[in-house]
Amino acid sequence: MAKHFSYVILGGGVAAGYAAREFANQGIKPGDLAIISKESVAPYERPALSKGYLFPQNAARLPGFHTCVGSGGERLSPEWYSDKGIELILSTEIVKADLASKTLTSSAGATFTYETLLIATGSSVIKLTDFGVQGAEANNILYLRDIDDADKLVAAMQAKKDGKAVVVGGGYIGLELSAALKINNFDVTMVYPEPWCMPRLFTAGLAAFYEGYYANKGINIVKGTVAVGFDADANGDVTAVKLKNGNVLEADIVIVGVGGRPLTGLFKGQVEEEKGGIKTDAFFATSVPGVYAIGDVAAFPLKLYNEMRRVEHVDHARKSAEQAVKAIKAKESGESVSEYDYLPYFYSRSFDISWQFYGDNVGENVLFGDNDPTAATPKFGTYWVKDGKVVGVFLEGGSAEENQAIAKVARAQPPVADVEALKKEGLDFAAKI
Ligand code: FAD
Repeated sequence: MAKHFSYVILGGGVAAGYAAREFANQGIKPGDLAIISKESVAPYERPALSKGYLFPQNAARLPGFHTCVGSGGERLSPEWYSDKGIELILSTEIVKADLASKTLTSSAGATFTYETLLIATGSSVIKLTDFGVQGAEANNILYLRDIDDADKLVAAMQAKKDGKAVVVGGGYIGLELSAALKINNFDVTMVYPEPWCMPRLFTAGLAAFYEGYYANKGINIVKGTVAVGFDADANGDVTAVKLKNGNVLEADIVIVGVGGRPLTGLFKGQVEEEKGGIKTDAFFATSVPGVYAIGDVAAFPLKLYNEMRRVEHVDHARKSAEQAVKAIKAKESGESVSEYDYLPYFYSRSFDISWQFYGDNVGENVLFGDNDPTAATPKFGTYWVKDGKVVGVFLEGGSAEENQAIAKVARAQPPVADVEALKKEGLDFAAKI
């Protein structure tokens, strides 16, 4: 017998937690809503896994970082869900979704039916074994997407105390995990093929700071090459990383952060797709009536830039969830909500440094401030100028007010007549807007 719910959220991550809170705010009856998640715990703030979760002292642990604490909201513990009559169906992987009959089937054969479905399956990590990289199945070659992965990493750090770690990939995960491993007293080497780290966002000028800062912390950086194979000992534990440039790096732990893929496979051929995700309108409704997609999987109209985008960041996961639930509830009562009008916002923290970025990183880039990696309190940033307007701003070391100011600039897109003057004015330009 299928279990029936008015609303089912498929996936139990960031978007699911924020959607549940919004359903509760809007008013639902006990038994109306279920969250079905592969994970064994209630929704939590995923970014904590590469930050506080890995601290050597006072590490973050559940229930401390259940949603919605990451945005300063209420912490939704498992008891919160039961008090609201929201069913948390955990450790349950959905292996079949039939949108025509509104039925989901789990790997254990349980079936669930719904009137409204919110797809919030997020992303999976790309693994080196996906490409058949030699030796990539060795022990202690690790990835980080969920709490089980984080626990494996913590166990490996304990087992290989003060050892050697190689981090493959120079993006968010690579940078944050290199810092975490260093703080845990590992000898860390980062390897990535690009000319500088975080190339999808960072300019050469921004990256020069972070690479210099990491080098000063004792992290070795090997650029312009990739891992092509691994050696392991008799126990199957990784011992070395073989690089394409012929060098070999000793390793007790390898962390791979080479990107993710939106988890849309269950819906292939049943729903319109775009940008590798599920196409939605400005209310996160998909091409199938009664089916919504939120968070990493949604390809939605980004009003500010008048184009479809998919955004794999926590702020959008939270806001898209709230927008979808508001739209669902408004529709039921014959009302409407405004279109989603998102300002892209990304951030990262490692060691004592932290940056924020708002807007779009297109056009000419203008570095301002002092990006000297040895500065005691670094503060610098970059404006992106397109068609004579500032469209994006990055700031390292900003105060709350300064970060608010750069967000305002990215939203307002003020005109810039003289790029040289903008460079000289630096952060003062943002403070005036
Ligand atoms: P997720 O939070 O990934 O949730 C998806 C859920 O769906 C998971 O519970 C998963 O198990 C479940 N699921 C998937 N398929 C199935 C299935 N078939 N059956 C049942 N359940 C299923 N973003 C930032 O902006 N700043 C950061 O600092 C930052 N740090 C990050 C650090 C890490 C380690 C990671 C992994 C991501 C980080 N991100 C960060 C990205 C951010 O966490 C994601 O964009 C966000 O979690 C997306 O939310 P979501 O709900 O769409 O997906």
